[in-house]
Amino acid sequence: MKKTESEKIKLENSYTQLPEVFYTLQDPTPVTSPEFVIFNAVLAQELGLDAKLIQSEEGAAILAGNQVPDHATPLAQAYAGHQFGHFTMLGDGRAILLGEHITPDDNRRDIQLKGAGRTPYSRGGDGRAALGPMLREYIISEAMHALGVPTTRSLAVVSTGEPTYRETELPGAILTRVAASHLRVGTFQYARKWGTQEDLRALADYAIKRHYPEVWNQENRYVSFLRELIKKQAVLIAKWQLVGFIHGVMNTDNMTISGETIDYGPCAFMDVYSPETVFSSIDVQGRYAYQNQPYIAGWNLARFAEAILPLLDKDQDRAIEIANKEVTSFLDLYNQNWLAGMRGKLGIFNEETEDEKLVEQLLEIMEKEKADYTNTFRGLTFPDRQKDEVFQTDEFANWKEKWEARLQRQDESMEDIHYLMRESNPAVIPRNHKVEEALEAAVAGDNSVMNRLLDVLKNPYAHTNAQEEYGRPPATPDPAYRTYCGT
Ligand code: AMP
Ligand code: MG
Repeated sequence: MKKTESEKIKLENSYTQLPEVFYTLQDPTPVTSPEFVIFNAVLAQELGLDAKLIQSEEGAAILAGNQVPDHATPLAQAYAGHQFGHFTMLGDGRAILLGEHITPDDNRRDIQLKGAGRTPYSRGGDGRAALGPMLREYIISEAMHALGVPTTRSLAVVSTGEPTYRETELPGAILTRVAASHLRVGTFQYARKWGTQEDLRALADYAIKRHYPEVWNQENRYVSFLRELIKKQAVLIAKWQLVGFIHGVMNTDNMTISGETIDYGPCAFMDVYSPETVFSSIDVQGRYAYQNQPYIAGWNLARFAEAILPLLDKDQDRAIEIANKEVTSFLDLYNQNWLAGMRGKLGIFNEETEDEKLVEQLLEIMEKEKADYTNTFRGLTFPDRQKDEVFQTDEFANWKEKWEARLQRQDESMEDIHYLMRESNPAVIPRNHKVEEALEAAVAGDNSVMNRLLDVLKNPYAHTNAQEEYGRPPATPDPAYRTYCGT
C-alpha cells in the first residue's frame, strides 16, 4: 500500500485508543481505475477540505483506497446487532474507516470508505459495493440533510473500474461517507457480549466524550448518556415520520449513537400516505413499516439500555429499574417531537390539547383518499395547489373548517402562519421514480439527470418553479415498489 505525503486529507484516529476488541487495523484493497462519479464540493468546503485538491487524480486514489493518507491508520470496526430481531455478530464487512477529520469549527468527522474491500468482518461478502446503491445513498443522504434531518453525509462516489457480482454484473463503486461517528447501538451490544466490563466502560466514555460531553461530570454519566441518546433518537425518528421517510432496515446496527440517520439501503420516501408502507424487499412481515418506526426505535433503545446495564448501577435490579424508566420515556418524547412538527406543518404556534386529534383526523382522510403525503401539506400551505381529490371531499371541507378556526385561536398573523408552513412543508422529497430515473441514467454513464435532481433536492423548502416536475408524484403509483439492500 502506497502511503502519500499528501496534505489533501489530514486524519486522526481516536478510535484506536479504544481497546483492541473494537476494531481491526485494515487497509482498503486497491482497485483498478478509480474515477470520480460525483463529488460534493459544498460538503468538502464545509469540512474545510480543499475541493480542488481532493478532486485530483490523487484525491480519487485516496477515496478509492489506492493510497492511504500519511499518518492515517485505516480500520474496520467491530459491532453486533439485532437484524430483524435476531442477534448476530456483524462489523464493517465492506467499510473502512480512513480516519477522523477535524473541521474548521473543531468537529470530529469520520471519513469512511464504503465498498473498500474485504475485512475480517466480511463473512461471505465480497467487501464491495455497486455503483447504483452508492449513488442512491449519496442522493438520499444529501436530500435528508437538506430537509433538516440529521444524517451521515456523502462526500463522493468513486467508480472502481471493476465489476461487482450480484444477481447480475454491476459496475463497482466506493462511497465516501462522512459521519459524526460510526458508533452504533450494535457497538455497545458487541461490547456487552464479547468485551469485558472495562471494555464496555471505555466505549461508553469514548461515546460520551465524542457525542455527549455535557454529561461527563454528571452524577451518573451513563444514565445521563442513555437519557440524552433517547432524546436524540426521539428527535430523529419524529423528523423521519414528518417527512415521510422509511428507513427500511432499522436493525440495531443501523442506529447511531450520534443521532444521525445511517445506512441508506432499502429506504424510500412515501408518495401516497399509507401507514403500512414497507419498501424493503426483505421485510416481508412489515417489521420496519412506516407506522412501526417509533416502536422499533424504542425496541432498539431497550437493547442499548440492556447493553450498558452494568454501567447504570452496581445493583442489577436497580439498573433494570433505571433502564426501564428511561426507555419507557421514549415514546412520549417521540410523540412530543412529532406533534410539535405537525403543528408546524399546519401553521400552529401555540398548544391546545385537541391538536393531536386535529392532525389525526387529517391523516385519516389522507389515508382513506390515498392522498400524496408531501403534496397534501403543500396544498394546505398554498391553497391554489388544492387540485388533488382529497381536497374536494366533504370530509376535508369539514376538517378545514376546524383547522381554520384553530388558526384563529393564536396571535400570529396569516403571514406568520404561511411562513411557518413553508418552512415546515417541503416542496420536494427524493421521490422513488425520480431517484430510479436518475440512477438508471447515471449507471449508464449519464450523470445529468442525477445532477439536476440533486440540485433541486438541495433546497426543498424553496418553493420555486424549478421544483415543479420533481414535486409531482409518479403518474401511476407503484404500490409494489421495493428497494434492495446488501448490494
Ligand atoms: P447493511 O445491510 O449495509 O447494514 O450491512 C449489514 C452487514 O453486512 C454489515 O456487517 C455489512 O458490513 C455487511 N455487508 C453488507 N454488504 C457486504 C458485502 N458486499 N461484503 C461484505 N460485507 C457486507
Ligand atoms: Mg448497516
